[in-house]
Amino acid sequence: MLIHNIGELAVVPPGPLRGAAMRSVTSMADAAVAIEDGRIAWFGPRRDLPQRDWGPALDAEGGTVIPGLIDCHTHIPFVGSRSHEFVRRIAGETYLSIMQSGGGIRVTTEAVRRATQEQLVAESLPRLGRMLASGVTTCECKSGYGLTPQDELKQLRAIRDLGGGQPIELIPTFLGAHALPAEFEGRADAFIDCISDETLLKTIAGDRLARFCDVFCDRGAFDVAQARRVLERGLRHGLRPKLHADELAQIGATRLAAELGAVSADHLEHVDDGGMAALAAAGTVAVVLPGTSFFLGIPHADARRMIAAGLAVALATDCNPGSSMIESLPLIMNIACCQLRLLPGEALAACTANAAAAIGEAHRLGAIAPGFDADLVVLDVLGIAEWMYTPGRSRVRTVIKRGRVVWP
Ligand SMILES: [Zn+2]
Repeated sequence: MLIHNIGELAVVPPGPLRGAAMRSVTSMADAAVAIEDGRIAWFGPRRDLPQRDWGPALDAEGGTVIPGLIDCHTHIPFVGSRSHEFVRRIAGETYLSIMQSGGGIRVTTEAVRRATQEQLVAESLPRLGRMLASGVTTCECKSGYGLTPQDELKQLRAIRDLGGGQPIELIPTFLGAHALPAEFEGRADAFIDCISDETLLKTIAGDRLARFCDVFCDRGAFDVAQARRVLERGLRHGLRPKLHADELAQIGATRLAAELGAVSADHLEHVDDGGMAALAAAGTVAVVLPGTSFFLGIPHADARRMIAAGLAVALATDCNPGSSMIESLPLIMNIACCQLRLLPGEALAACTANAAAAIGEAHRLGAIAPGFDADLVVLDVLGIAEWMYTPGRSRVRTVIKRGRVVWP
């Protein structure tokens, strides 16, 4: 396939793009992209296009072409709504106080435990459909609402089924240590042993149900010693660590992520200079989730400071029913530009090349480069600055996954 008449091609180099390199997204006017076997075979100014039969042509009509967006942190699949909590928070309660009064994650856990694998799939499909329409071609999905071995497996199998049922490529993460279920109240260590039990991890790894192992390590969640136990056990089964770190307080989670060579440390609202230096030294991607702070009305993570510290910063929706019921990665980029002061090129790098690095796929996804998967989005607007300048307005015209038009 040949995509021609591209008004502006946003050339994102392969990630991870660290610090100042996040500004290395360039724009190429009057460009073309040639695709072969689902991969980018050539890109450049149209006048330099090698003369040969590239197959069917797709007219970008003078719009912008970007790499497919990668949502590298979501809690899909889940079921149910927590809009009542949303209202309680607006009226003045905090996320933590709602959690301590029996609300929060436990509400979703009860709903997920009641749901069948098929119901999890059915409720997630339309969500993924809307994400596809917003330009997402790859999405990380976590378990973490089942909180028993069988319900965690049910969530992971639902992710596997969802992967085969729609065009977005799904990257599964096991987040068994997401919250302490009611039946383990006061026995967090016993729960940790239950949810990182040898048989469970063997099944997850053997059936390739997850690529990564994640833990919610924070005040009011699991401590560093507990997180370490789960992540080290996961590592023994080939599950690379990720970590929910420094969201509510700084308890040492970021340093643990760096020490274990985590592929990403996510949230980081409370990260300090030492934590950032540790992540930079370890090559761990900093995943910032401004949808959560926007949704909860709390201060954002300081992404500018992270970039100044030389980190590769990625952005994601954190899509979940409690703290970020946001499916739109373009909205996250809008918030990052307006509130976190990321430049449009940096925001795009954060949702493509660096998001690919946050899921261990920077060699194949998230860039405009020969040999990379032809995951591309055509926008009906000239330039990414114009795109991010208009929050709340969909500019996606066509979505391509591995060289195939998958939307509309
Ligand atoms: Zn999360």
